[in-house]
Amino acid sequence: MSQVFGNTTLSNLIRDTTYSATLQNVKEFQPQLGFMETHWAAYYLFMNNDKLATGLMFFLLHEFMYFFRCLPWFIIDQIPYFRRWKIQPTKIPSVKEQWHCFKSVLLSHFLVEAIPIWTFHPMCEKLGISVQVPFPSISRQTFEICLFFVLEDMWHYWAHRLFHYGVFYKYIHKQHHRYAAPFGLAAEYAHPMETMTLGFGTVGMPILYVMYTGNLHLFTLCLWITLRLFQAVDAHSGYHFPWSLCNFMPFWAGAEHHDLHHHFFIGNYASSFRWWDFCLDTEAGPDAKLSREEKMKSVAAKNIKKKN
Ligand SMILES: [Zn+2]
Ligand SMILES: [Zn+2]
Repeated sequence: MSQVFGNTTLSNLIRDTTYSATLQNVKEFQPQLGFMETHWAAYYLFMNNDKLATGLMFFLLHEFMYFFRCLPWFIIDQIPYFRRWKIQPTKIPSVKEQWHCFKSVLLSHFLVEAIPIWTFHPMCEKLGISVQVPFPSISRQTFEICLFFVLEDMWHYWAHRLFHYGVFYKYIHKQHHRYAAPFGLAAEYAHPMETMTLGFGTVGMPILYVMYTGNLHLFTLCLWITLRLFQAVDAHSGYHFPWSLCNFMPFWAGAEHHDLHHHFFIGNYASSFRWWDFCLDTEAGPDAKLSREEKMKSVAAKNIKKKN
């Protein structure tokens, strides 16, 4: 029996033979629940197997949100009007290229990501990640999601920077750099080792958080993963609009930041924010390169002076 109410008698009373009947019963017996909470409870009760319900939800959430977010970028790539906002306007990905990428990403989702997704619920239970209704307050969810963005960005910066060293680049990260002008679908086009390592930032950071606080809701985790997927796809879109988020939040990385990384193969290692690359002087692009070269020249000149 599902733990969604944490009460077997109530769950037995509400659960029905069809999803719509279960939903109707939830509405009747628990009218204080919000729209999402009602559907969440009805889904878990109807499935009657929390392990299967969580696994299936996570897998479908990932597939749907990822490809749903990629679709507008694919359409925009076909419309010449939008070229004025394309960061590398001469490099429009062909349909053939995008098709190859789509097949590869889909295959890796089934092979690499299906296993962790199916073992997720038992781990949630062990860690104390709740599936119960009602959900935590909006302010708590907002705080946790903001924190995950900051922590994931930190992990991504260091892991990604490591992937640009020698063997790590040659045997693992090179695959992701196949496209020097990225497009939405390329966000998850990567070696399985890279998917798992960088994926730790997305899933592992909330796990560390719940190990420390003992309090996290699965719905918050679903929201966080959805927003993180949107961020990753948008960062690979290849478009910078006047209304792009980084115009209003200068510390937000956005597509402009990650496009430069793909273009120059070096610098801009962070995912969501610009502060790591700014503070550690690893910004990508000709301007950043020039200022670094100037610095290196002045250091070299000083060293020569010292020797003399
Ligand atoms: Zn890279
Ligand atoms: Zn990338």
